[in-house]
Amino acid sequence: MKHWNEECAVVGVYNVENASILSYYSLFAMQHRGQEASGISASNGSKIATIKNTGLVTKIFTEKRLSKLQGRSSIGHNRYSTAGEDSINDTQPIFARYDLGEMAIAHNGNLTNAKQVRQMLINEGAIFQSHLDTENLIHLIARSKKQSLTDRIIDALGQVDGAYCFIFLSRTKMFAIRDRYGLRPLSLGKIQNQDGSTGYIVASESCAFDLVGAEFVREVRAGEMLIFDGAYSLSDNQPKSIQVFEPKEHPCVFEHVYFARPDSNVFGHNVYKARKQMGIELAKEHKIEADMVIPVPDSGVAAALGYSKQSGIDFELGLIRNHYVGRTFIEPTQQQRELKVRLKLNPIAELIAGKDIIVIDDSVVRGTTSKQIIKILRQAGARKIHLLISSPPTISPCFYGVDTPHKTELICANKSIEEVRKYIGADSLGFLSIDGLMRSLGDENKPMCKACFDEVYIDDFTNDFRNDLTGANPCVSC
Ligand code: SF4
Repeated sequence: MKHWNEECAVVGVYNVENASILSYYSLFAMQHRGQEASGISASNGSKIATIKNTGLVTKIFTEKRLSKLQGRSSIGHNRYSTAGEDSINDTQPIFARYDLGEMAIAHNGNLTNAKQVRQMLINEGAIFQSHLDTENLIHLIARSKKQSLTDRIIDALGQVDGAYCFIFLSRTKMFAIRDRYGLRPLSLGKIQNQDGSTGYIVASESCAFDLVGAEFVREVRAGEMLIFDGAYSLSDNQPKSIQVFEPKEHPCVFEHVYFARPDSNVFGHNVYKARKQMGIELAKEHKIEADMVIPVPDSGVAAALGYSKQSGIDFELGLIRNHYVGRTFIEPTQQQRELKVRLKLNPIAELIAGKDIIVIDDSVVRGTTSKQIIKILRQAGARKIHLLISSPPTISPCFYGVDTPHKTELICANKSIEEVRKYIGADSLGFLSIDGLMRSLGDENKPMCKACFDEVYIDDFTNDFRNDLTGANPCVSC
């Protein structure tokens, strides 16, 4: 069930005919990471063209529009965040002309010192056109005293903190960079061109590769910059790699819990298998007698299958999801909130009436959705309802590119598990432990960001930024 807001997708395609069409299909494959806006920039070698707008990928890009994005290199972006007032200006890629030519940038993540950097740039006379922290990079690159674009990008990156996967496009080159923590996923793939040359693709999720026929090569390393430049990368079958920062790997564990598509491989694990294992660990930690286990679709399905496998309790699809629900034009009164959940989920009363059921969901944020789900299952006649969550209690917001509510709105940060159980109306409530979550990823000691579960933020996290945040939508990049 969707209760976290995704955190953008980026793609870059290099040395492929009609590169923008591959960017289009890749963005379509990664639509789950952002549905607010989408954009593609393409270079024909002498000029960069950009088309972007609000809405879904298929709505924005017609065949005619894509035909205007000519060239063998292209970058693209799907955006979630509603932060910012001018939604068109706040879409990506951001395009700019500067003394070295033209560039376009796509960014997934959140720069934690963006406010300070922006103020410094404004004090020096910079004029901003958007509310995006990504625009800081444009100014830092344009103002850098270094000679080459590569050195200017490195210079600019040295002045920003936080989570990022950046893809830069110049008229002839493409750059892909992952922050030193590797918080957000970014993978490299290659494409065999008909003329025997090699094309490249970098994308937030590997599911994009499958759709465009690309072969997965490897993940971009934390702190690494890949440079795609026809002058050398096409001859040795590899883009040039520069380790810009010493890696301090802390990838986001929530990619596995909720964000990434089950058919993607991120941080060395297949997402579907990881979620199923979370269900297995959940069954080991919470042994419950019931007639069936049902998922909250879609993100609870794999964990429910895992729970069923481990416990021997039948798996059933007791809740059916309507995938065609768009925006709902309803005010948040109690009755209307119920309608909102009912528009998305409908129980099969004939299946669950009179039965003891285990319901598996991926997380609890405010608790309102869980409460509504329990209510509609009770109305459908369920006798006992045990809610099990395939992640630990969410007790702290994310500052690394995921749009989460403020801590005061996170129910598990403010109530005990028993109080939460009473609030949502379940007969029992259980969460996967942090150790169980890490076991399901194969290594309890693997360094990963789990800050929304344990409140341990990565080391040089900017405290000013954290203290500044008073409400939802902390992410201002994507
Ligand atoms: S705080 Fe949570 S959502 Fe944000 S990067 Fe860390 S694990 Fe991921």
